[in-house]
Amino acid sequence: MSTPIPGRHQGKTVVITGGARGIGLAYAQRFAAEGANLVLGDVLDAEGRESVRALEKAGVKAIYARCDVTKKAEVEALMDAAMASYGRLDVCIANAGVVSHGAFLDVTEADWDRVMAINVKGVFLTGQSAAKRMIATRKKIADWGGGAIVNIASVNAVLVQHNSVPYPVSKGAVHLLTRVMAIHLADYDIRVVAIGPGPTKTAMEAKVMADPAKRRIREIRTALRRMAEPEEVAAVASFLASDDASYLTGQTLFVDGGRLVLNYMMPDERAS
Ligand code: NDP
Repeated sequence: MSTPIPGRHQGKTVVITGGARGIGLAYAQRFAAEGANLVLGDVLDAEGRESVRALEKAGVKAIYARCDVTKKAEVEALMDAAMASYGRLDVCIANAGVVSHGAFLDVTEADWDRVMAINVKGVFLTGQSAAKRMIATRKKIADWGGGAIVNIASVNAVLVQHNSVPYPVSKGAVHLLTRVMAIHLADYDIRVVAIGPGPTKTAMEAKVMADPAKRRIREIRTALRRMAEPEEVAAVASFLASDDASYLTGQTLFVDGGRLVLNYMMPDERAS
């Protein structure tokens, strides 16, 4: 497992939507270990506050603000909280997302709208609002190192399944939105990248983790034959937001244990 690089994000402000738990919290812990000050937004207020308390106990500067990413005013308030607390915005991780399951003929209008609103509109609102504060930071800090926006897509941005409709469509949109944002924001020293995680051990995959048969299907569809730990995805986000990725923009990096390079599934036993 990757070890945090002390000082890599020293003094930077990092905003994370959907940061109360899951991979969002893993991003927070990773960036905190590398010197960042944090702003976590989520709709799970109790978990969000508890996560911030735990980070503060470890000596990290962190604040929580309720932020439903489908509501522009709440997204703006989250970014304003970052500027008011730390005076700058360097990194934004548009992580909030929801999954939905069901066959094409059964998808309801309400489910389609809910997934699109959170997974697509939410990433747009988050990115636009963050970029405006990054541009304000650029004007204020002469030697600003540039901003990084990391959108969270999924392997489902390019991979479809029988039991899921709006989710892969929404993640495909995040993949494309990342490319659009990258060209629009390049002139402001803001890089925009995306991560496409494979199955990762969080509440979103709780049912899979609790069911050995379902879990096995995930594992044999993955070259590394295991689900990701949230910390493994967070390590890649840290790299993408760092100077080590200074010539990287507009790309989606699939952190998937070899899920996409496999032709759907591994044989049960390796060939001898
Ligand atoms: P979690 O459900 O653990 O975390 C997502 C967080 O976002 C939750 O706290 C969730 O709250 C919150 N959220 C939901 N709706 C909103 C909203 N409108 N505004 C703000 N926050 C909201 O999921 P993961 O950590 O697993 O997923 C994080 C991201 O990674 C998502 O974008 C997901 O699609 C993506 N991803 C995850 C994979 C996995 O296998 N876990 C694989 C590929 C991609 P609530 O519980 O109320 O929904």
